[in-house]
Amino acid sequence: MSNPFFQPPSGTDLPRYAGVPSFMRLPYLKPDDPRRADVDIGFFGMPWDGATSNRPGARHGPRGLRDASTMIREMNRATGQTPFKTANCADLGDVAMSPVDQDEALAAAEGFVSAMLAQNIRPFMAGGDHLCTLTVLRALRKLRGEPFGMVLLDSHTDLYPPYFGGKTLTHGNPFRQAITEGCLDPARCVMAGMRGTSYNNEDFQFGYDHGVRIMAIEECMELGWRTVMAIAREVVGKGPAYVSFDIDFLDPAYAPGTGTPEVGGPNSFEAIQCVRALRGLDIIGADLVEVSPPFDPSGNTEWLGASIMFELLCAMQP
Ligand code: MN
Ligand code: MN
Repeated sequence: MSNPFFQPPSGTDLPRYAGVPSFMRLPYLKPDDPRRADVDIGFFGMPWDGATSNRPGARHGPRGLRDASTMIREMNRATGQTPFKTANCADLGDVAMSPVDQDEALAAAEGFVSAMLAQNIRPFMAGGDHLCTLTVLRALRKLRGEPFGMVLLDSHTDLYPPYFGGKTLTHGNPFRQAITEGCLDPARCVMAGMRGTSYNNEDFQFGYDHGVRIMAIEECMELGWRTVMAIAREVVGKGPAYVSFDIDFLDPAYAPGTGTPEVGGPNSFEAIQCVRALRGLDIIGADLVEVSPPFDPSGNTEWLGASIMFELLCAMQP
């Protein structure tokens, strides 16, 4: 399958820095474009950081990632894959999310994803803060009718209780909510890279109580990433699984442009190796979240995020 319409223009015909930016220079299709029917994997942005607990700015993530992603070329030389030739990929634009009304924003996001799923498009979301992921999980759960597994690469579990004593959803608790709502099968969920200071241990405890395999950074570094990912594959198994990648999984030396950085994490190459190890899983959707361009003056975090997106796109294909 190699549809010429869905190929990015060659950088040898049109320089990669030229033109109107879209994710990986793919065609941009509006919601009513009939060619959406032919899309296999759809990139889209959730420009929203209304659930951020500390440094904001992830609302600018999709635009920054789009721009940086124009540097991506067609071939993954390490894996031998040409992912735009083996799947029809497109940029489906951004969800219109209210910056001031959380309920409205989350409902719009879930509706956007549901419309994609109805067209049999595999979702690839660029955040936005990590609460955006909950809307993708909810839409997938409604479509599939049963919970699924997940691989989370993040420096946090995002299993925290609500802050400030309220019922608030934040970017610190999308997966607690997703497990509570029955979107995720916790026994088929694995989380790796956790580190940093914490308010308490309630997030880990929630994970342990529900059977989530949490691999804190000490375990990851002791075992090595190859073993970590072998364990991740074992936990997730052959069934359908979602992959969520929080850019703060990386050490802030490599990815400073994010809301809640935690020191002592993997480097860029190790993170890429982790993503490559996911190939062959039944990946039903993926995201790259928490890139905050205002905290990324060098642009390195955006570029790293775009590069991880490309590796994830490859991991989603045979
Ligand atoms: Mn997160
Ligand atoms: Mn995080």
